[in-house]
Amino acid sequence: LTFLGIESSCDDTAAAVVTEGREILASVVAGQTTLHADFGGVVPEIAARAHAEKLDSCVEQALAQAGRSLADLDGIAVTAGPGLIGGVLSGLMLAKGLAAGSGLPLVGVNHLAGHALTPRLTDGTDYPYLMLLVSGGHCQFLSVAGPEDFTRLGGTIDDAPGEAFDKVAKLLGLPQPGGPSVEAAARDGDPRRFSLPRPLLDRPGCDLSFSGLKTAVLRLRDDLAAAQGGLHEQDRADICAGFQAAVAEVLAEKTRRALAQSPAPVLAVAGGVAANQTLRAALQQVARDAGAGFLAPPLRLCTDNAAMIAWAGIEAYRAGQRDGMDLAARPRWPLDRKAAPMLGAGK
Ligand code: ATP
Ligand code: FE
Repeated sequence: LTFLGIESSCDDTAAAVVTEGREILASVVAGQTTLHADFGGVVPEIAARAHAEKLDSCVEQALAQAGRSLADLDGIAVTAGPGLIGGVLSGLMLAKGLAAGSGLPLVGVNHLAGHALTPRLTDGTDYPYLMLLVSGGHCQFLSVAGPEDFTRLGGTIDDAPGEAFDKVAKLLGLPQPGGPSVEAAARDGDPRRFSLPRPLLDRPGCDLSFSGLKTAVLRLRDDLAAAQGGLHEQDRADICAGFQAAVAEVLAEKTRRALAQSPAPVLAVAGGVAANQTLRAALQQVARDAGAGFLAPPLRLCTDNAAMIAWAGIEAYRAGQRDGMDLAARPRWPLDRKAAPMLGAGK
């Protein structure tokens, strides 16, 4: 089987061609960061328009790079949610048009399933495994037992960690995206100089919270600025180091609990925050202690892309899923069908 994948649920327009044999024949990602730079966040209308403009050429490029035409393919997978409705609709309309024109089967994919199934694409990981998804918009633990069998063990009740990194960078006057700049600043910092909170660590279970941590950084910055008339380079470094240590520590402890609650041979991470070396080291230690393997796919497949959508489409197709022209966009779409409605679980 060879599938075309289409992704347009957030601020990346992407198309990819992937085979059942886990070959990524092409993966094209067109970001929008510069378009939204002046607004301090993703603007839904701008995102939707950019997707509508770029989707066609992304698909053309992906097919050309793969050396395939639609006639050589076995199906079209498209992100049907969750995400920004305008972008999702743009992708859905293109996918439906291509499917209707070519007669290829259409498979609607949950964006989160794309992330969660990535270790199967990159490493052929067997079910079950534990997935920690940590990105700019998401933070959750998923026990993955099959292409449609996800159990959500917990997640953030407010901000996602990437969002917290970005806000902390903004508070300290560091460049966006905040993750890499906070990590770089933290390299020269002392994580023990300031004591930052470890939210929800005292509460049982795997839920997390990051908004209090951000507020604590804001207060710390203002106190320091008031006391000494400004922030020194070293203060910034120490705050970043302290913040990063707090994030890594709570994520590691909650991962420990998730593995205890739902033992799995492999712990896998996905999402842009998984690039953080301090976090990686902490998670690797947790996996080692639990006798589990640790897997972090390459960053370009950890962040938003269409290869994961094509792959999730192939798995869903093999499980029997076929969608028609009535495939609907679902801006909110929890992966875990058994779960109660999610409690502020991010996007
Ligand atoms: P989503 O994939 O949830 O829709 P997104 O596109 O914002 O949201 P990603 O592209 O997966 O998420 O990741 C981007 C986030 O990862 C940003 O918030 C960024 O600050 C964070 N990030 C990137 N590198 C690092 C790093 N080295 N340390 C910490 N955070 C990082
Ligand atoms: Fe994503």
